[in-house]
Amino acid sequence: MLARIGMERIVIIGAGQAGCQAVASLRAAGFAGAITLVGDEPFQPYQRPPLSKAYLMGAMERERLFLKPDAFYAEARCEMATGIAATAIDRAARTVALADGRKLVYDKLLLATGSRVRKIKVPGADLPGIFYLRGIADVDALRPALAAAKHLAVVGGGYIGLEVAAVARKLGHRVTVIETLDRVMARAVSKPMSDFYERVHREAGVEFAMNTAVEGFEGRGKLEAVRAGGVSVAADVALIGIGVIPNCELAQAAGLACNDGIQVDKHCATADAAIFAAGDCTRHHGRAGDLIRLESVQNAIDQAKHAALAMAGQPAPYSEVPWFWSDQYDLKLQIAGLAKPGDTLVQRGDPATRKFAVFHLREGRIAAVEAVNAAPEYLMGRKLIADAAAVAPERLADISIPMKSIV
Ligand code: FAD
Ligand code: NAP
Repeated sequence: MLARIGMERIVIIGAGQAGCQAVASLRAAGFAGAITLVGDEPFQPYQRPPLSKAYLMGAMERERLFLKPDAFYAEARCEMATGIAATAIDRAARTVALADGRKLVYDKLLLATGSRVRKIKVPGADLPGIFYLRGIADVDALRPALAAAKHLAVVGGGYIGLEVAAVARKLGHRVTVIETLDRVMARAVSKPMSDFYERVHREAGVEFAMNTAVEGFEGRGKLEAVRAGGVSVAADVALIGIGVIPNCELAQAAGLACNDGIQVDKHCATADAAIFAAGDCTRHHGRAGDLIRLESVQNAIDQAKHAALAMAGQPAPYSEVPWFWSDQYDLKLQIAGLAKPGDTLVQRGDPATRKFAVFHLREGRIAAVEAVNAAPEYLMGRKLIADAAAVAPERLADISIPMKSIV
């Protein structure tokens, strides 16, 4: 059995957070066969969170972005094929075609292709001065343009938009955020938390155009203004952060089920017993049983771990509580669990102190927690979600009761 496993070849498409974790987890699980990691970016796997935070600010060296040192891949006997896209999967022949004409044979294949930015489709969207943020190359292009700019327009008040707005204000730029919805980070947080973050940004000098759709970009040869809500907002740089699209095309072309994400089960397996998927590119059944697609470091790491275990013949179901974070100004926002419309909200602490939490209760149990500069609320909240513990709302709201004594 071991000898047969030792002969196996695993190909991983996507040299990002999930792809890198899968290499480490496969070796940790004792997989002794060949591993090839294919990535279309010209870099070894790196972490994206600092891209919209310290790296954009210029406070972090590029070298510190890389998830593992070169020696890791050598020691893990992982063949690296970076700067090369995988272009097709032949499921019958069990091969992956690469853009350089090579064909890689696999016994098991992991799709860790991540997601790409959603492009804005309005007139003038290709004017110089308009940027997106997904990879190292994007920040390296944005940083000098931002340094030379007076007025940054941020389109989309989500995670990327607000993190970049915070950095740009720290760097002294005028910033206007344009958001189609009536509140910021609407996909990620509750209304009280959205209101808090909008207030913090306004106090820091960020201007907002809420409930406002971008109609076009204007300028002679380069960006000069953003047309939104019937008015022109002067801007010499624009950053678009309007969400992502999962990279499922390879899977779809190979006949695998995709629905805004490659469909996988609790073992990160597709309907093809030889093909697995992990990270931003997947759609899976969450703890509540509904089909979800998560875009987070936690999900990429944990799905990669579970996919690796399944590929190494030691399947263990994935059911971790999802968690997220965002750094803006002096605020560390930490979120665990998934909120749903209809949850009862319980606030603990005063937002004016810049240290508080909002709990989402469902049928008397904590379903999600959003904590600002409040590590005990986040950590205990995450544990109580995992334990499905019943809580009394009035105790949760009472800051004189320590979190560890809530239940
Ligand atoms: P990725 O890390 O995107 O890796 C996928 C890789 O596959 C990419 O390199 C892609 O180019 C490559 N690829 C795609 N198709 C092919 C192909 N056909 N052939 C070869 N290679 C291919 N999450 C958090 O939890 N907290 C944060 O604070 C946070 N901050 C973020 C800040 C920014 C600016 C961004 C962009 C994301 C942030 N995220 C954050 C999200 C997090 O980084 C992603 O959820 C995570 O990187 C997903 O990992 P992944 O491996 O699925 O995809
Ligand atoms: P996001 O969090 O989905 O936010 C995008 C925002 O833009 C949403 O509020 C969206 O509203 C809005 N929007 C959509 N179309 C618009 C339009 N035409 N004009 C103006 N606003 C529009 O996505 P993101 O901020 O772009 O982030 C991209 C990815 O990076 C995500 O995977 C995200 O999780 C990740 N990321 C995470 C972090 C973190 O976890 N701290 C930080 C940075 C990035 P609708 O909801 O109505 O579409």
